[in-house]
Amino acid sequence: MARQKLAGPPRDGRRRLPAVGSLCSDPAAAALTTRFGATAVTAALRAVVAEARDALTVGGVDAPAPEILIARAAHRLEAGGRETLFRLINATGVVIHTNLGRAPLAPEAVDAMAVVAGYASLEFDLAGGRRSSRHDHLDGLIAGVTGAEAGLAVNNGAGGVLLALAALAAGTPVIVSRGELIEIGGGFRVPDIVAQSGARLIEVGATNRTHLGDYTAALRQHPEARVILRTHPSNFRITGFTGAPALADLAAFAHDHGLLLVEDLGGGALVDLEPYGVTGEPTVQESLRAGVDLVMFSGDKLLGGPQAGVLAGRRALLDRLIGHPLARALRLDKLSLAALAATLRLYRAPSDPTARVPVLRMLTQTVAVIQARAEALLSMIAGLDGVDGAVVTTDSYAGGGAMPMHALPSRAVALRAAGLSADELAWRLRTGGGVVGRIERDHLLLDMRTVDDGALPALAEAIRRSAPG
Ligand SMILES: *Cc1c(COP(=O)(O)O)cnc(C)c1O
Repeated sequence: MARQKLAGPPRDGRRRLPAVGSLCSDPAAAALTTRFGATAVTAALRAVVAEARDALTVGGVDAPAPEILIARAAHRLEAGGRETLFRLINATGVVIHTNLGRAPLAPEAVDAMAVVAGYASLEFDLAGGRRSSRHDHLDGLIAGVTGAEAGLAVNNGAGGVLLALAALAAGTPVIVSRGELIEIGGGFRVPDIVAQSGARLIEVGATNRTHLGDYTAALRQHPEARVILRTHPSNFRITGFTGAPALADLAAFAHDHGLLLVEDLGGGALVDLEPYGVTGEPTVQESLRAGVDLVMFSGDKLLGGPQAGVLAGRRALLDRLIGHPLARALRLDKLSLAALAATLRLYRAPSDPTARVPVLRMLTQTVAVIQARAEALLSMIAGLDGVDGAVVTTDSYAGGGAMPMHALPSRAVALRAAGLSADELAWRLRTGGGVVGRIERDHLLLDMRTVDDGALPALAEAIRRSAPG
């Protein structure tokens, strides 16, 4: 059929986004208006069109059809009255996914939280019938698994760094290498945290290289300095012509000059993950053995526990931290405390943490195990009308600031549904089944590294519900 060439398809061949006004006059939108009111419906349509426009700007997707946009608006309106925080299936392949709640907890940690949900012996000495300290529950455990003299935990990693600097260095210069003045996601910047602690940042060295001589020069200028801060670069790496003193040398230097060396390790591995391909993540034990006086790390990154900032080091220093007013402001609640204690217990011999801590299990599992899980999912969805899947090779990531450049070989189920774009199928799985996957070159991938075996039936059911027709 010949058509006049007035307003033909857009030059890139993609569908154009409909105007909000034209969507409002669609009969399906009118039905929503009787339920939710015109103002709410218009707002919801405006929001989904804006979302779709953002997706088009990023590229790789088609503009959704008007009926899809109206369905998304309907979902938005209905979700308005529902819970906003619920369980998801993480099929992104990013193990420590900050937007999806970072570390999934071990059943032992979940049980421990339920146990203390009512009244609990949080700060109570049963034998003496008097008050005790909540810090007592973690001190020995942290010391035991890290090899430190003492341990403490606060609300999160950033809080741990803030507390340490405030208690040990407020009013004095803190010496940091220019290569370690990092920003991690969510607004944590080392220079800002140093400033907030009341300490003064003294930068030494160059972006790519810092030598012990640079620290000597800084000390000559700032003899009142008491703390050297070392930070793990977390989510970036400088490669090429680089250099920094070995940790043990820096510790010896600090002690020779009467300074403390404190280290923000970020991820905080207690197990050497190098044999599993997770490189560049020194363990907490190594840092302490090298002579670091106080090590700080997150509870919900490589440790695999609840959100927390864990501190391990010399007892005299931790006592100063506990006595600081910020320790009260940043203290852990009983649920996190119980979950952290239970997680730390999984690291004590004869327990094998790589089998029992979910984050470590996901990072250390073999490709054969992931492949078998992908095949199990395929067989569960075999025979579904309009859906087909295939096992494909892909890469997973540790996430949470650990080894950003190192991909872990993995397997995904690449899913297709008749008549749906990858983007539409992904949307249906997210909103209808709480499944978050990843789109790669117009395919929806469900990376099976981060899917628990126990979640396979729910995942298969979500796919069935998202199938067209
Ligand atoms: C993640 C991280 C932090 C912050 O820890 P949170 O637990 O997210 O507050 C601080 N420093 C480094 C190096 C990190 O990687």
